[in-house]
Amino acid sequence: MIATILLLEDDPAIADTVVFALRREGFEVEHHGWLAEARERLRTAPAPELLILDIGLPDGHGLDLCRELRAGPLRQLPVIVLSARSEEMDRVLGLELGADDYLAKPFSPRELVARVRALLRRAQAAPAAQSSVSGFAIEGTRVSLDGVLLNLTKLELGLLNHLLRAPQRIHSRDALLDAVWGSSAESTDRTVDTHIKTLRAKLRAAAPARDPIKTHRGLGYSLEP
Ligand code: CA
Repeated sequence: MIATILLLEDDPAIADTVVFALRREGFEVEHHGWLAEARERLRTAPAPELLILDIGLPDGHGLDLCRELRAGPLRQLPVIVLSARSEEMDRVLGLELGADDYLAKPFSPRELVARVRALLRRAQAAPAAQSSVSGFAIEGTRVSLDGVLLNLTKLELGLLNHLLRAPQRIHSRDALLDAVWGSSAESTDRTVDTHIKTLRAKLRAAAPARDPIKTHRGLGYSLEP
């Protein structure tokens, strides 16, 4: 699989170096210099396999995006944070906000490529839910059921990932809202129901004999092996 890497970096010289180094190693690279552009891109499928994120950006703080990602359906997207400052504070804050790795500028492109590879390996080797529910296979943001690749929206993927992580447990609508939508005020219980319904339809289309999502009246949903 050729991994797509999203690079968010406003310094053109650094961006050029990183893009060049990664492409030379066979990665697909999409580069943005603005936080707003990257946010927009991350709302579109397919999601990248990894994000390289600069902290100081012209329209905001890179770590804000990191925090948002960790509260939403892309919470498992591997993130490497780049910072112009090598202060311990930034490093700790970056890792606390959910970055997987951290590089202080100036860094060698070779070092970055090595970190990218290591992180992708880790992400692909350790899908949290791969074996817990038979039939489901997860590779990055691609999920298949009984060998059929599911064409899921990001929210459906977030829901499924959450259910897969704790099969047989009943998840209330509130818990699912919190986990998948974060603190977005516009979402309601009905939002969860709507997305569960479309997710269920896609699972049924892939594997008609299964119906792994169970509704527990008044309580919520669970995923049954
Ligand atoms: Ca910058």
